[in-house]
Amino acid sequence: MRTPIIAGNWKMNKTIEETKAFLNQVKDFSVEGVEAVLCVPYTDLAIAKELVGDYIKIGSQNIHWAESGAFTGEISPLMLKELGVQYAIIGHSERREMFGETDETVNKRVHAAFKHGITPIVCVGEKIEEREAGKTKEVVKEQTEKAIQGLTSEQVKQIVIAYEPIWAIGTGKSSTAEDANEVIGFIRQVIADQYDQQVANEVRIQYGGSVKPENIGAFMRQPEIDGALVGGASLDPTSFKALVEGGKQS
Ligand code: PGA
Repeated sequence: MRTPIIAGNWKMNKTIEETKAFLNQVKDFSVEGVEAVLCVPYTDLAIAKELVGDYIKIGSQNIHWAESGAFTGEISPLMLKELGVQYAIIGHSERREMFGETDETVNKRVHAAFKHGITPIVCVGEKIEEREAGKTKEVVKEQTEKAIQGLTSEQVKQIVIAYEPIWAIGTGKSSTAEDANEVIGFIRQVIADQYDQQVANEVRIQYGGSVKPENIGAFMRQPEIDGALVGGASLDPTSFKALVEGGKQS
């Protein structure tokens, strides 16, 4: 049985003061049988770890592959580890599109995260032109295969993959639950082909892209979908709690 996982991606939002106000509202909250993660900006990681309580886990939105060195503006796995960060989003489409992230650098970051005991949440997903050209599966196959290349079966079982069609991110236009389920089932097959079915059956694969409390139930009821990666709707504590509650519906 795969435990559903709901992760908030705050992107470049919330100061320390705003983070404190949010966490005060969620620190005593928990939902049995659902894992909850908040991926906050670097400047909020320390205060988030301090105030979050026992239930919600804290993640970063990136992680570099080197432990230290001349990489201006990057964050080292050791720095994240020291703060008690448990998850790291890797290869979000905003990083791929705006900051030159490639399948190769995604793979390096994934290996570094595992080396330091941080669980990767790897994002894959097609652009609108690719979907319209019927290339969705081709694109997610390549992204998935390259992201997990060289991992052991045990590592693959722990990874979280977020299928996020780029045209659905921040647009209010989510994929249909059925379409998302089909692509996610396909991603699981890609993993089965690269490893084996038993490994693939353990990998948690989320849907992301305009998920809200109103539509999370529809996604969670799909058999292949194991949770959601949520941007905008994770910024409000009431909405975040409703999303995590929605994770129970799987
Ligand atoms: P959204 O973002 O929920 O605001 O569409 C999702 C994401 O980018 O992870």
